[in-house]
Amino acid sequence: MSDYVIEVPPVVGIPVAGTDARFPVRRVYCIGRNYAAHAVEMGHDPDREAPFFFQKNPNNLDPSGEFPYPPHSSDVHHEVEMLVALKSGGSNIPLDQALDHVYGYGLSLDMTRRDLQGEQKKMGRPWEIGKAFERSGPVGPLHPVSKVGHPDQGRVSLSVNGDLRQEGDLNQMIWKVPEMIAYLSEYFELAAGDVIMSGTPSGVAAVKRGDAMVMEIEGLGAMTVTVV
Ligand code: MN
Repeated sequence: MSDYVIEVPPVVGIPVAGTDARFPVRRVYCIGRNYAAHAVEMGHDPDREAPFFFQKNPNNLDPSGEFPYPPHSSDVHHEVEMLVALKSGGSNIPLDQALDHVYGYGLSLDMTRRDLQGEQKKMGRPWEIGKAFERSGPVGPLHPVSKVGHPDQGRVSLSVNGDLRQEGDLNQMIWKVPEMIAYLSEYFELAAGDVIMSGTPSGVAAVKRGDAMVMEIEGLGAMTVTVV
């Protein structure tokens, strides 16, 4: 018997590659404009401005391989991103200790209702309606650091129905993984279970029902997500 007044909502778990184990998600931080070519395609100066973050909800993450086309949008974009999963955290984490907090890495999609996000941007309002909707974060299995190390270079790509849409390299990130962890930890108390979506290379574009998106990061495998 629990002393909660309603049933406790399920913990969202990301599968760990090659095992039956899952990584429990506490928070989801997402960085904006972390690849210069993507900043330019969104109409911004790629100079190294301070990083900025928004959040999705933990239960927006979805390892099922299906992405249901969301309501109230006719311009839903894919953004392929490397996911960073933390096994520990803290505040004011020094840069040279930041990677010690990483459990592993995986594939993710920061699906975006671009039309709704654009309206919010124009009005100076928060982005949740464009970013933090149901199943807006398809994720692939996590690869522990013990298996893959800390990937800081390698091809990142996304194709739709066999056509290459997004292509870049992890080494093009403006803010590197240790820098993102250190920066976030100045403003938030990071903890085990937090994940970071590390930004997307250029080539973001709209999807439609029936599309098969294949995301791939060198060293982290590939995953197909179907728009349903
Ligand atoms: Mn993104």
